[in-house]
Parts: sequence; C-alpha cells; structure tokens
Amino acid sequence: DAWRSFHRIHDLVDRLPDLAGEEVIIRALDHVFTGNELKAAVDSAETALRAHGIRQGDRVLLVNENCAALCVLIFAVSRIGAWSAIVNARIAKAEIDRIAAHCKARARFYTGAISEPAAAMAVADGADDIDLGPTTGIQATPAVDEVPEAGEPEDGSAVAVLLYTSGTTGQPKGVMLTHWNLLFTAQRSAELRGTKPGERTLGVLPISHVFGLSSVFIGTVFGAGELILRSRFVPRDIADLLENDDVTIFQGVPAMYAHFLELATVRGTPMAPPKIRYTSAGGAPLDLSIKQRIEAMWKVQLKNGYGLTETTAGVCATTLEYPADDDSVGVLFKSVEARIVDANTLEDMPNGEIGEFWVRSPGNMKGYYHNPEETAKVLLPDGWYRTGDFAKRTADGYFYIVGRLKELIIRSGFNVYPIDVETALNSHPDVALSAVVGRSVDGNEEVVAFVQPIAGRTITMEALRAHAEASLAPYKRPSEYIFSDNLPVTPAGKILKNSLREEAQTRAA
Ligand code: ATP
Repeated sequence: DAWRSFHRIHDLVDRLPDLAGEEVIIRALDHVFTGNELKAAVDSAETALRAHGIRQGDRVLLVNENCAALCVLIFAVSRIGAWSAIVNARIAKAEIDRIAAHCKARARFYTGAISEPAAAMAVADGADDIDLGPTTGIQATPAVDEVPEAGEPEDGSAVAVLLYTSGTTGQPKGVMLTHWNLLFTAQRSAELRGTKPGERTLGVLPISHVFGLSSVFIGTVFGAGELILRSRFVPRDIADLLENDDVTIFQGVPAMYAHFLELATVRGTPMAPPKIRYTSAGGAPLDLSIKQRIEAMWKVQLKNGYGLTETTAGVCATTLEYPADDDSVGVLFKSVEARIVDANTLEDMPNGEIGEFWVRSPGNMKGYYHNPEETAKVLLPDGWYRTGDFAKRTADGYFYIVGRLKELIIRSGFNVYPIDVETALNSHPDVALSAVVGRSVDGNEEVVAFVQPIAGRTITMEALRAHAEASLAPYKRPSEYIFSDNLPVTPAGKILKNSLREEAQTRAA
C-alpha cells in the first residue's frame, strides 16, 4: 500500500513537482498554488517556523478557518516534526485557551486574513503578522518556553496532528493522529473518489475536523487533484460554486444536503450541479429521505461514509461497487477490521443483530494526549477501538449504524434511536432539519424534538404530531416539539446535541 511508503504527510507535497507541478492544487480565497508553488511555499514556511523557534516535538496551535495558508502551515509543521493542534476559530475563545493550555502550545498561529474571529483572537493574544515567504495573512505569538515531546519514532507512527473532538456530547479530548493514520485515510479517500490531477474537489468541511482534514484536504493532495477551499457553508454561495464552477467531487455532512434541499424548495428550481460525479456524506447519520431526494435532484449516488475522529475518519463507506439504496454506511475500507460486540459479555454478535461497533484499523489514533485513563477505556491492548456506536452487519458485509450509545433514549424500557425519529420528522415537507434528544423526568426518559422549519414556512404543533403518529410507534413519538430557526451547529455543521439536551432538560424543570 502506497501510504506505508511515506513516513510524513509532507512527503505528499515533496512529490507534487513530479506529479502535478503546473497543475493547481489549492484554489482558495487567500492564495492559489500549483504543485510547484505549494512545495516552494512549504519550504519557505518551514524556514520561517524554525526561525520563530519551532522545534521537533513542539505543539503548534493553528487557530483557523479553511484557507491555503493553513494547508501550508500544516505541512511546514510536519517538516519540522512538530505537532499541529488544529482548532477552528469559530469555537469560543475560552475553549481555545483551554486547548492551548492542555497541549502546552509553543506558539499560536492565526489565519487572520480570511477569518474575522481568528483576527480578533490574534489581536487579543498579542500576535503579529509573520513573514512566511509566499504565504501571507498569518499572525503568530512569540514562542514560549515549553518542553518538546521527546522520543517520538522516526517513522510514520509519530504524531502529526492533535484534533480536539468537537464535543457534541462531552468534554473535549485531544486525539493524537499519526502521519500514517492520516496517510492511510488520505489514500483510501483518494482511491474511493478517483481523485487525480484535473478533478476539482470542493472543500468546505473544516480542516479542523477529521473528515475535512484527512479525507478532503490530505486526500486531495494525495491524488494531486485540485482543492477549492471555502471556509463557510453559506448554502447559496456553495450551491453557486457547485452549479457554476466545474466541481466534480463534493463531500459534506448530512445537514449540508438538507440545506441544498431547502434552497431548492425556497427558490423553486432544482439545485443541480452539472459536473458532479462523486458525492458523499459522513460525520453524522444520513437520513434516507435526504439521500433519496438529493440523488433524484443531482442524478448521482449520494454515498454514505462512517468514521470518527479517533479512527481518522475512514472506517467504511458505500462505493460504486457497493452502492446501497438504504441508509447503510457500506462496507469496510481495505485493511480495516470490525467486530459487532455485545457491550456486556464482549462476545461477537451474529449478523443482523445490534451490538457495539469495534474497529481495528491503520487509522486508529495513538491515544488521547495526556489522558491515559480515557485512552484505556476505548483503545484496547490488542488494537481494537470501541466506537461507542451501536451497529449491525449483514451477511454480505454491509454495516448499519443504529445510533450512539450516549445518545440512546430509553423510554419505559424501550430503546429509541434519535435518527429514527429525525428521519420521520424530516420527511414532513416543511421541515428543514430536526434533532432529537432525551430528557430525564422522574427516572424515565422522554423524547424531545427540535425542529427547524424551511425558511419562510411555519408548521403547527398539531401537524407535526399528526405526522409523527402516522409514522412512529407510540413510544418513539416526541413528548415535546421545540421550534428553532437556527439549530446550533459545530463548525463542521454537525448539530450540537449536548446544548440541545441541556435546553430540553432546563425546559422540563
Ligand atoms: P464527540 O466525540 O465529542 O461527541 P463528535 O461527535 O463531533 O464529538 P466525531 O468524531 O466528529 O465526534 O463524530 C463521530 C461520530 O459521528 C460517530 O461516533 C458516529 O456516531 C457519528 N457518525 C459519523 N459518520 C456517521 C454516519 N455515516 N452515519 C451515522 N453516524 C455517523
């Protein structure tokens, strides 16, 4: 496998002059780089970072939104053997400060030129513009006295990146991803999509999230395709790019596809990118009705893929060879092993039965940084990672995610998986998005639904209740509906269920 022959993610940049020297590799709002130019930019940035005091084993905090300069920084940090702690500038400053303190960052860098929140934090933290050569628009704080990680291996099992999980359900943890972790997912993604010079991938998933980092960004560089980078998912702007800019590959989270459907409804014409030949969703459950409506409108398969930060995304996916016309997440990536395990007895479940999804993969993280207790809970000595998701497998190797252990609602002894309820609600013609959470009341759990109507439409509680009654068993029907014009989301566009759970709980009190 090619990924094994590389030892560092920046090896991918160093071979670009031979593969695609004159082809555009990154087209962003701050810079456009061909293969030759990207390599030259990384060369200069490496020199500048060393001069700034960055050493092997240092943690470097990159406060960012998607741009070409961020890509250059990640590769330059890799050249030095330091670690990039990649955090989205749109999360709260207090949280970024906590992350910086947790990883003991040697210096902080900000993509201030293309991101208002990054620029504001750069000012607050006393960062100044830094000269990185061809790459402009970055601010940096002076290096502080921190101890570099020592004894890192020389091969690809050294840490490349720290990703703090987005915390949709709990406390953030620093996931250590190695060069091989990232190279593995990058290669598998490039193979799946057929990324090659001339293919144009739209990258609007944040590089601060594992899916945007490993699959979209590094995967596109792996295949030497063109990455069109945008930092924000504004449905109209992204639709415009897809419809007019010869984009051939698009990957998103399910909510993005829901927004495309909403846009088509609101403007009264289909939203149909003419050149797209590969499109996929991942990072959260893909509701079947969204998948089917997008496929009808785009005339391509909407593939589904499953993974987590801790597995460097790529665990399984539906593919051209293994399509699915239901909500399966497809078959295992080559080199990935899986078990479906009874969470109590730890025995393997027979095909078709629900158990916890365990994964052993070249993408499995090295561990949580400075957190051996949490690491030991999920990463077993024989290499298995416990995902915390319930899943089942069919005899022909297709996987189905039924829900997350921590999101399961147990109502009067019955299991309610939020996605089942969300799928039913989303099929209402006036619903844009929904999110279902549990709320404990007197030792039992209730189902609470947050519903975002399509812009400009109103839905009555009665209509929703009637809709739920027609399609859901009584124990799955929400006890309460809460309307919202804007469900809270992470920078990657995933719905922030923990804040909704808190809100639901507060309302009960
Ligand atoms: P935290 O771990 O702090 O809650 P997070 O949810 O954002 O943060 P991620 O690593 O982004 O962490 O999310 C991984 C989870 O997303 C998986 O465990 C799974 O529950 C869900 N998921 C990812 N892809 C799919 C998919 N295709 N179908 C269903 N669920 C998915």
